[in-house]
Amino acid sequence: MHKDIATPVRTRQILDKYGFSFKKSLGQNFLIDTNILNRIVDHANITEASAAIEVGPGIGALTEQLAKRSKQVMAFEIDQRLLPILEDTLSPYDNVKVIHQDILKADVQKYIDEELAGIEDIMVVANLPYYVTTPILMKLLEERLPIRGIVGMLQKEVADRISARPGTKEYGSLSIAIQYYTKAETVMIVPKTVFIPQPNVDSAVIRLTILDEPPVKVIDEDFFFQVTRASFAQRRKTILNNLTSQLPDGKQKKAEIQSALSEAGIEESRRGETLSIEEFGRLSDALYPNFH
Ligand code: SAM
Repeated sequence: MHKDIATPVRTRQILDKYGFSFKKSLGQNFLIDTNILNRIVDHANITEASAAIEVGPGIGALTEQLAKRSKQVMAFEIDQRLLPILEDTLSPYDNVKVIHQDILKADVQKYIDEELAGIEDIMVVANLPYYVTTPILMKLLEERLPIRGIVGMLQKEVADRISARPGTKEYGSLSIAIQYYTKAETVMIVPKTVFIPQPNVDSAVIRLTILDEPPVKVIDEDFFFQVTRASFAQRRKTILNNLTSQLPDGKQKKAEIQSALSEAGIEESRRGETLSIEEFGRLSDALYPNFH
């Protein structure tokens, strides 16, 4: 029986054997605590019939735990230096496919079709590179991949914004963008001490469960997201001021914006952070005819 990768001693041995030096620019903070890894995998509720897609396997700490508990693992790693290391550390597992690609550029659907054919339950599970957390999450959600959800480690501050409810200071366009596609929960707070090197920020694990239907049906999704971003452009401004200054020709169309707010039942003096996702849906539909 070999030792788990995610222990301080084995990780150090692997890094020394290959003379590996961390690249901060790639968000390389590796997990060295098997207990934390197992709890992350627990939150994904995967079974031996499931597949896991991992972003950034590093030296394979999480990949190994996923390989033990699922049918198939597909992992995207951008750093070529890690490929020979992964080949070595993951050699005991025949159900892992490492793909040398930037996840942001990869055709993930194509890889799912090729590598995970016939598997019905697919979860993304990852200790994400913090410099690109949001683009990665948005890509995976916007592409409407056939996944049940995402369990991901990220900066606690971003986790707080993702799972924020209306009326809180963390609530903003990111909360709405993610909650449009998923039920978002923060499921774990993780201390810095379980990483090497230790990150500068606190970490948390979120679970995003894909919704069957979006919480609001809108005429035009892109416009809905444009309206939400505009509404939070300056948090201290009222919704009316943000929309007039941010929407195209907003100043000239102030009267139309006022009547759309009234039609949606939203007072002009409210701030974006108080609006629910349903209210943003009503508002963007009411604004839509005047901006298209
Ligand atoms: N999963 C490992 C662990 O938990 O120990 C490593 C996690 S580390 C926080 C992030 C990993 O993502 C690194 O291996 C890094 O090289 C990789 N990475 C960074 N940017 C990436 C990208 N755009 N696409 C794929 N992998 C990326």
